[in-house]
Amino acid sequence: MMEALVLGCGEAFDERLPNTSILLRAPGLAALLDCGYSAPPRVFASAGPEDIDLIYISHAHADHYFGLPAVLGRWWEDGRTKPLTILSQPAVIDQIKDILEYGYRTLPARFKHPIDYVAARAGETLESHGARFRFAATRHSVTNLAIRVEAAGKVVCLSGDGMFTDESAALFAGADLVFHEAFSFEASPVHTDIDALLAMAAGAGVGRLALTHVQRKVRLARARIDDAMKAAAVKAIMPEPGDSIGA
Ligand SMILES: [Zn+2]
Repeated sequence: MMEALVLGCGEAFDERLPNTSILLRAPGLAALLDCGYSAPPRVFASAGPEDIDLIYISHAHADHYFGLPAVLGRWWEDGRTKPLTILSQPAVIDQIKDILEYGYRTLPARFKHPIDYVAARAGETLESHGARFRFAATRHSVTNLAIRVEAAGKVVCLSGDGMFTDESAALFAGADLVFHEAFSFEASPVHTDIDALLAMAAGAGVGRLALTHVQRKVRLARARIDDAMKAAAVKAIMPEPGDSIGA
C-alpha cells in the first residue's frame, strides 16, 4: 500500500492552487515529490520535522524546487536531526545547494542532520528506504526527469513537467497511479496536451491517472476536462489539494 497526499496540484502561477507537490508514503518511506515556492505551508501542515526521509526534485524550475529553503529552514528550527536524502539530476543538485545558500546564507552549515545528495539519471535504477526508483526524461524547456516509485508491491509515478516521451511512457507502464502534468489542450513543445496524455496513459496500462499542473485558465473550463476524462479509456481524476489517494 502506498498513499499519495496531494499537497498541491497547481501550475506555476495559479492564484488558487499551490504548486504541484506530492507527499508519498509507503512502509519505511515518506517522500516529498517536488517542492515549489507555494508548497511549504502545505508541507508544514502535513508532516513534522522528522517525518520526510527523501525529497525528489524533477527539474530546476522555481515552482518545483524554490520551496526547499523554507522547508529545510523550518525543519532546522523544529530541531530535525534525522538524515535527509535529496534525489535529483546532478546539475539540479548543484542548483539546490545554491538556493539553500541564497535563501538562508548561514543555515546549511548549521543543519543538525546530514543531507545525502543522490544522483538521479535517466534509465538507472536506485534503491533507497525500501523502495525502487527509476527515471525518464520528458520534453521540457529544461531537462526534466519523471520518476517511478515502486514500493510495497505498488507503483506511483510523477511526471514533473513536460510532454511525455517514449521513454517516460515506458516508465509509467502498468503503474497503479500516475500524477502527470496536463497543461492544456494545445500541442506544445514543452508541455503535455490533455487528449494525448489520456491516450498515452490508456495505452501504457496506467491504473489511475491524476491530472495536475493544469494551466489556470484551462482549469476554469472544467467541463471540457471532465468530458475528456469521461471519454478516456483510462480512469482519470483531477485531484484537489488535501486529497489522499491510495495505490
Ligand atoms: Zn517546468
